[in-house]
Amino acid sequence: MSKGRGKPLVLIADDDAATRYVCSESLRHEGFFVLQAANGAEALDLCTTKVPDLVLLDVEMPEMSGYAACRAIRATDACAHLPVVMVTSHDDRDSINLAYEAGATDFIAKPISWPLLGHRLRYILRSARNLQSLCETLDENRALMAALPDNIFVVAYDGTIVEHLRGDAAPVFDRGQQVAGRNLADVVPDDIRQQVQDALRQLDRAGGCLAIEYRDPSPADPDRWYECRFVDHGASRALAIVRDVSERKHTEARIHRLAYFDPLTGLPNRAHFRERAALALEQQGDVAVFIIDIDRFKRINDTLGTVIGDETLIETSRRLRSLAGQLKREFAVTVPDLRVELACFGGNVFAFMLAGRIDGIDLASIAARLGQHLSQPLFVGGHEFVVTASVGVARSPQHGDTVDALTKNAEAARHAAKSEGNNSQRVYRSSMNSGNQVCLDLENELRRALETDQLRVHYQPKYVAASGELEGAEALLRWVHPRRGEIEPSVFVGMAEEAGLIGSLGAWMINEVCGQIRDWRSAGLKPGTIAVNLSGREFIVGDPFRSIDGAVGRAGISPGDLQLEITETVLMSDIRSVMAALHRLHDAGFSLAVDDFGTGYSSLRYLQRFPVDVVKIDSSFVRDIEHDPNSRSICTAIIALAHGLGLEVVGEGVETAGQEDYLRHAGCDVLQGFRLGKPMAASAFELMLESGRRKGGSQGRPATGLLVPH
Ligand code: C2E
Ligand code: CA
Ligand code: CA
Repeated sequence: MSKGRGKPLVLIADDDAATRYVCSESLRHEGFFVLQAANGAEALDLCTTKVPDLVLLDVEMPEMSGYAACRAIRATDACAHLPVVMVTSHDDRDSINLAYEAGATDFIAKPISWPLLGHRLRYILRSARNLQSLCETLDENRALMAALPDNIFVVAYDGTIVEHLRGDAAPVFDRGQQVAGRNLADVVPDDIRQQVQDALRQLDRAGGCLAIEYRDPSPADPDRWYECRFVDHGASRALAIVRDVSERKHTEARIHRLAYFDPLTGLPNRAHFRERAALALEQQGDVAVFIIDIDRFKRINDTLGTVIGDETLIETSRRLRSLAGQLKREFAVTVPDLRVELACFGGNVFAFMLAGRIDGIDLASIAARLGQHLSQPLFVGGHEFVVTASVGVARSPQHGDTVDALTKNAEAARHAAKSEGNNSQRVYRSSMNSGNQVCLDLENELRRALETDQLRVHYQPKYVAASGELEGAEALLRWVHPRRGEIEPSVFVGMAEEAGLIGSLGAWMINEVCGQIRDWRSAGLKPGTIAVNLSGREFIVGDPFRSIDGAVGRAGISPGDLQLEITETVLMSDIRSVMAALHRLHDAGFSLAVDDFGTGYSSLRYLQRFPVDVVKIDSSFVRDIEHDPNSRSICTAIIALAHGLGLEVVGEGVETAGQEDYLRHAGCDVLQGFRLGKPMAASAFELMLESGRRKGGSQGRPATGLLVPH
């Protein structure tokens, strides 16, 4: 019904005036407005100007027949959907067909039953209105679907594509443009064909909604993901909605990466490792967990900077990956089900897991290989250096039957390894169980030790190689624990660095040594130059110059009485303040020695840039001097190069006559080691100084025949 009219408007087109009259009277009586046309042309004109709600069109009219008029009315924009009822005197099939072909909505045969006409027309109007609103809904739906970026297929449950609405963002499966009429299964990428067929079958059976996700099959776009969602559409049809879900997939992948992977190395994190190890434990039974800790990593970070620190961790992860690959190849035959998993637990701690029939694998030797593999020289940011790793291992079922127990015990083994010095590996033993706790306790106890006089200084003499005269001593810290006895500095110095206690420890040490030198000197003894070890951390967290210079000043000794030992990594640091502190110390008259030389960097050129006076050849080279030609050539090279730079060379860790001889003949200036004198308490060193004085002149090394210098 046209808006505002209230009653429906019917146009009666008939050339017979009497029929028109009766018809309009009858319809007015039934509550219709009526318009009349005497021929086809007039009817067409009224249709476009007045737009009635329904047209009653006589088939037989002169000039323009009812059929022609109907076609003309349908052809106008305004009346394309107008209900047109043909009034025909023939009720034969042909004329009815002709009426429909001309676009008629319905027909009424003459003679017309006047009492029923109104009802009939009302019924036709109602279905026309329903049809109209259906068409509008369809148009709306179509517009909506067209506005979506998705590709929408209307499919029959056998897969036939009834209609395809192409969205602009999502792709059509790349099988040609025209897909309507084809089967959806023939249009989708091969990988998901079966899934599509199954989905349609399931939808047909149970209705509802199903989705399949798949990757773009074109190799050019492997990062693009689509979702094909099937929705039951009623009337034995389904909608298949294909949508580009790449963004969601990428976000999901990012969240997954963040939740499950270490961002720096890209290795699985602790949570992920836990899941994988639990799965391996469930599926494969035998699992070994290795926990790996890069030794003294803090020192790398502090002295070389975090960029180099990060690179070191990344390189470590690469090495672990390569070892994982090697092991898989090696055990391909003997342990075909071998599974290797890696993880980074954050910071400098890594995990390595072996699962499968691993009873034949020697875990201690794998741990040793991990250590070896990681201690190959590193080339990072123009620096060459070596890192070592402490490794602890635990395996199921002997050391635990859950991932947490295995990890915890492997950690305990790693702690035990670390307490034995760097670059150690240990398989778990139950006695290690409280390892972590021991460490924490020790840390607290070290704080107390600083206040309660549990620390001591031992002095290890150093001798001039050529003359055998006492050159001085190296001061070495000792912790005499009231219950545990003497604790190695390699255990507690690292701990003090990590616990932020190294500043106090260093300050205590330097005060103690300065006071001792003052006492000896005022007693007329000549202890030579006393070397004190400085931790790299001391340069970072405080100003070593201030505390050292202060201690020397308070004791009233001269800076020349002290030598400060620093390791190569401290020199390597690009931190300006370290360089400035070294210069300040050197300018003030302290002599500087590079400790453990040869272990960190293979190049001596760094030495040129620093104000150092002494190089101490690392004891590992001295140890192997007698049987390893390589160590011999390293020692000779260090001596020659250091002398070339005007530096003095100290050989450390001299234990045998052979080592002593070799170093002396190679031109090493000063010797230190158990063979010449072990570290001793201050009182013992004092006795040595006194006996030297009694003998007159300079203190030589204890004459034991064999030990007399040549
Ligand atoms: P280091 O500076 O390389 O000290 C030399 C170490 O070698 C000492 O171990 C010494 O006892 C040992 N040694 C000397 N001669 C021989 C020998 O002939 N054979 C063998 N096998 N060893 C020998 P120690 O006293 O256990 O010290 C270990 C490390 O702890 C030191 O290595 C040093 O890095 C650190 N340390 C010691 N005292 C201090 C300190 O006061 N401050 C700092 N920051 N570190 C210290
Ligand atoms: Ca030293
Ligand atoms: Ca050393």
